[in-house]
Amino acid sequence: MQATTIERRGFILILSSPSGAGKTTLTRAVASDPKWGLDLSISVTTRQRRPSEIDGKHYNFIDREAFDALRGADNLLEWAEVHGNFYGTPRRPVEKVLGAGRDMIFDIDYQGTRQVRGKLAEDVVTVFILPPSLAELRHRLERRAEDSPETIEKRLANSRIEIQRWVEYDYVLVNDDLDDAFHALKGILTAERLKRARNTGLADFVDGLLAEPDTIA
Ligand code: 5GP
Repeated sequence: MQATTIERRGFILILSSPSGAGKTTLTRAVASDPKWGLDLSISVTTRQRRPSEIDGKHYNFIDREAFDALRGADNLLEWAEVHGNFYGTPRRPVEKVLGAGRDMIFDIDYQGTRQVRGKLAEDVVTVFILPPSLAELRHRLERRAEDSPETIEKRLANSRIEIQRWVEYDYVLVNDDLDDAFHALKGILTAERLKRARNTGLADFVDGLLAEPDTIA
């Protein structure tokens, strides 16, 4: 981390993966560490809440009518139908965070990623998380034991389609060890924050640097 603060544009870090590849764990781990100063986008969804989930923390759980109203009023930055349910990212919080020069992390699918990239281009960084194997993916979904066997089968069938979207992403991680994946993610974040084009305050900083005497008083 640099001690000198240089003004820069905020960006959106998107994580996508098939269900069970560990993306939600990773997203929450990096978002809950204050050192990284990342705001987590809370999506709205029409999916049923899982027993371990908290309304307003993991998602805002809403019905189809409320979802359609948000979409109709252009209050969603992106939205998609995934595994038969609707999911969307509320626009307002994103505008607020980016406007303040901060970064935000999204846990969304490839359809939503395309929409966000179409709208915000340079201000989007995308990461795809792959499972080490499909057998491990099944094991993780079954171990989680929060979805019905039919839902698990549906998610596994969809994962074969989702995995093929890896080519659309900036970075690809194979998550066979959570600590390693977390470490890699922090590396991506650090590098992206240092990109010259994002650091809009650099020119002023360098001007100031060059205007200073190079002798020690
Ligand atoms: P789950 O039901 O397991 O929480 O999520 C299913 C899928 O929906 C995951 O791939 C997740 O990334 C994606 N998802 C969650 N929220 C959103 C969202 O707001 N927009 C889009 N496009 N996908 C989302």
